[in-house]
Amino acid sequence: MNARWVELAEGVLVRRYTEMDLSVGLVLGDDRCLVVDTRGDAEQGAELAAAVRNITSLPWTTVLTHDHYDHAYGAPAFLPCDVWAHPACWDELGKAGKAALPGLLGLSVEHRVTLDLGGRQVVLAHPGVAHSPGDVVVHVADAGVLFAGDLVEHVPGGTFSAESFGSDTTLASWPAALDEIAALEAATVVPGHGEPTGPELIETCRSDLFTVLGLRERVRAGELSHEAALARSPLPADVTLAALTKPGD
Ligand SMILES: [Zn+2]
Repeated sequence: MNARWVELAEGVLVRRYTEMDLSVGLVLGDDRCLVVDTRGDAEQGAELAAAVRNITSLPWTTVLTHDHYDHAYGAPAFLPCDVWAHPACWDELGKAGKAALPGLLGLSVEHRVTLDLGGRQVVLAHPGVAHSPGDVVVHVADAGVLFAGDLVEHVPGGTFSAESFGSDTTLASWPAALDEIAALEAATVVPGHGEPTGPELIETCRSDLFTVLGLRERVRAGELSHEAALARSPLPADVTLAALTKPGD
């Protein structure tokens, strides 16, 4: 396991993992801290919890950007504490047998919740159905930092990976969700996977999705072959194919 903390602004940190190129967040207030995502299992969660304790002794609250295991299944290591997530995230965790945990104090972000960490307010928001049915982003307005979960990804030299587009992904409404988060005008955008970057990543992701959605429409209408669509896509072939062929919307 190879990991490092990077301070993005005063009291706003990202922990970067070589494994899965994962990014998790830590936001410090005067009274408590917020941990953004929890890694993928009990052991990984415990590693993250210990790493947070190396930074601060403040009591913590956690938020899950979505239900995928690599972001959510480490949550037990932080209990008992408040855990924020979208209702659809709770549903999926329940189906996976991961919500009924002893001491789990689950709180729902239906649309938008403001948390007061003491001298700092943080907004948790659901920008619409996109990468998963229950995506939540975390906006630290005073620091200009947005933790975007897997709504944006930042693979070397590009945006999405084949894993970005699962059966629970809704491609059609994803660009609108990106419009929502672009409107927050954060200077620093932290993807769920990949290095933190600027707001231009949101626009690039949106543009790539928009193009792939158009190609998918033409493939479905019989106007383009898969091969022709792959050739015209801004995304690598395996990533485009994952988007074109995924079940669901
Ligand atoms: Zn995901």
